[in-house]
Amino acid sequence: MAGLSVVLTFDLDAETLWLGRDPEAARRPVMLSMGRYGAVEGLPRILQVLKRHSLPATFFVPGLVIEWHPRAAESILEAGFVIEHHTYSHAWLDTLAPEQEREEFERGLEVVTSFTGRRPRGFRSPAAEFSAITVDLLEEYGFAFSSNMFDSDSPYLLRNGDRVTDIVELPIAWPLIDGPFWLYSHRLPGRTIQSPSTVLETWTREHDGLVEEEGRSLVLATHPQLVGRPSRIWVLERFLEHVLADGRATFTTAAELAEAARAELVPALG
Ligand SMILES: [Zn+2]
Repeated sequence: MAGLSVVLTFDLDAETLWLGRDPEAARRPVMLSMGRYGAVEGLPRILQVLKRHSLPATFFVPGLVIEWHPRAAESILEAGFVIEHHTYSHAWLDTLAPEQEREEFERGLEVVTSFTGRRPRGFRSPAAEFSAITVDLLEEYGFAFSSNMFDSDSPYLLRNGDRVTDIVELPIAWPLIDGPFWLYSHRLPGRTIQSPSTVLETWTREHDGLVEEEGRSLVLATHPQLVGRPSRIWVLERFLEHVLADGRATFTTAAELAEAARAELVPALG
């Protein structure tokens, strides 16, 4: 893991991105249609780009999205990718009672496992936050990795309070997430849409810095409903071409990077 590892992650939240923010979205069909775009239009474009460059990727999909968009979820599997755990309904964990969070966790795990025939190895929380029991649940269900924290540019072992777990954290970063640039609604005050060139410059400069350092990981975290528009697929593809042309980074899946990192990190615990 001396060189830079690049992990492409896609959170297919569809309508649940909006329902998780505000359950009142259930009575706003136009708002929900912004989420549906990800499953209907964005995802096929992403799968085409990944196929064109023969690149690995990791998809996080809430159980409810699998139930609402089974064909979209199936297309992820048909393209050779795995689906990791992203809760059942994308409810924000820090707003839930412990028993509600457990229900979200177990139901989502059950839907992904039965739909894909594979038990998910990794977890990403909705809207980037944990509750007091989230890491307990990851440990209880034997998860291999989490991709949620913002405190490092390298994989590390997640802590549960004062104790180090054997769950590998694959950290993310706002500049490498599409939401801050492109998550827009006239009902979300203060947001503006950023230009494709701004995002491309951010992503390529993140790569160019990290690739010069030892043992770094770059986890790109995007949403088909945002990155799946043509002007943004352009950004994704130019970014991938930039990384490929540089040639020093290795593309891998989140699960594979977690396994490689664990092999180095767990013995170091002593
Ligand atoms: Zn999400």
